[in-house]
Amino acid sequence: KLYNQVQDLKGNIRVYCRVRPFLPGQSSIMSSVGRIDDGSITLITPLKYGKEGRKSFSFNKVFGPSASQEEVFSDTQALIRSVLDGYNVCIFAYGQTGSGKTYTMSGPKVLNEHSHGVNYRALNDLFYLSEQRKDAFHYEIAVQMIEIYNELVRDLLVNDNKIRNSSQKGLNVPDARLIPVTSTSEVIELMNIGQRNRAVGATALNDRSSRSHSCLTIHVQGREMASGTILRGCMHLVDLAGSERVDKSEAKGERLKEAQHINKSLSALGDVIAALAQKNSHVPYRNSKLTQLLQDSLGGQAKTLMFVHISPEADAIGETISTLKFAERVA
Ligand code: ADP
Ligand code: MG
Repeated sequence: KLYNQVQDLKGNIRVYCRVRPFLPGQSSIMSSVGRIDDGSITLITPLKYGKEGRKSFSFNKVFGPSASQEEVFSDTQALIRSVLDGYNVCIFAYGQTGSGKTYTMSGPKVLNEHSHGVNYRALNDLFYLSEQRKDAFHYEIAVQMIEIYNELVRDLLVNDNKIRNSSQKGLNVPDARLIPVTSTSEVIELMNIGQRNRAVGATALNDRSSRSHSCLTIHVQGREMASGTILRGCMHLVDLAGSERVDKSEAKGERLKEAQHINKSLSALGDVIAALAQKNSHVPYRNSKLTQLLQDSLGGQAKTLMFVHISPEADAIGETISTLKFAERVA
C-alpha cells in the first residue's frame, strides 16, 4: 500500500533545502556555499559569524544548484500519493525573495516539460493515480486558491478583487470558491486566473507576490466502490512571502506594516512546526491567519514538507543564515 511507504518516512515533517544556481550574468560573483552533501550544507561565513569561517546545517535532504525539477519532485511523490489515501499534506516554499520559491512550486516564467514545478507535477500525479485506481475508487477533485496579505484572506478565483476578512474557524480555507476539476490543464488555467487576480491587487511599485502568501489547495474525495467508504484528503501548496528582514529604521507606512505581518506569520508558522516536531502538547495555531487556515493539515496524521530556499551569493549570507536557522528549528 502506498501509505505504508509514506509512514516509513521519518516522522511527519520533512525539511529539504534547495540552493538556487547563479543566474545568467552572475558567473563572477562569490558564493557563500562551500560544500553540499546529501543531507548537509556548509556555508563559508565572514568573520562576524565566528572565526571558523564555516557553518554547517543538516536537513532531510539538500538539493544543490544543479538539481533538476524532476529530481526535486521525485522525493515528494510519496507524500502526494498519500493525499489519495485520505491524508492531509502541506508543502511550503520558504526563503528570501529571489531565492527560488516560485521556481520550485510553479517553475520559471517560460515553461517546458522539464521546468514544471511541484504544483504541476503533483496535480499530474494525482490525476494519473486516481485514473489508475478507477476500478476501485471514485475520486472527485476540487481546488481553491487564496492569498494572505496583511493577515487578510483573498479568494484568487473570484474576479472581484476584494479582500475579505474571514473570521470563521475550523474550516480549511473559509469562504473561498471551491472549483471541481478533472484534469491538470484545468487547474493550470485556474492558476493562471489566480495569478492574474493577484497581479491586479499589486500597485506598480509593489511586487505584492513577494509580500503575500499564496496557497493552492487541492481537495480530494474518494469513495471506495465496494464498501462505500469515503476518504477525504487535501493538499496545500504554499508559496510563502519573502522571509527577508526589513530594516525597521528604513521601512515606513504600508511597507513597515507588510513587513510586520510577514514576520509575524512566518514566525507563527515556525513555532507551529517546531512544536509539532518536538511533539509539544500545546501547538500555537491561533497566532496567524496562515496557521489557523492550515490547522487541520498541520499535525496529527497530516504530513508537512518544507522546502527552504537559499540564494548562493556571498552578500546574501545574512539572510541565508537566518533562513537555515529557521529551517533547522523546524527540522
Ligand atoms: P522567489 O519566488 O523566491 O522570489 P523566484 O522563484 O522568482 O524566487 O526565482 C528568482 C529567479 O531565479 C527567477 O528568475 C527564477 O527563474 C530563477 N531561479 C530560481 N531557482 C532556479 C533554479 N533552481 N534554476 C534556475 N533558475 C532558477
Ligand atoms: Mg516568488
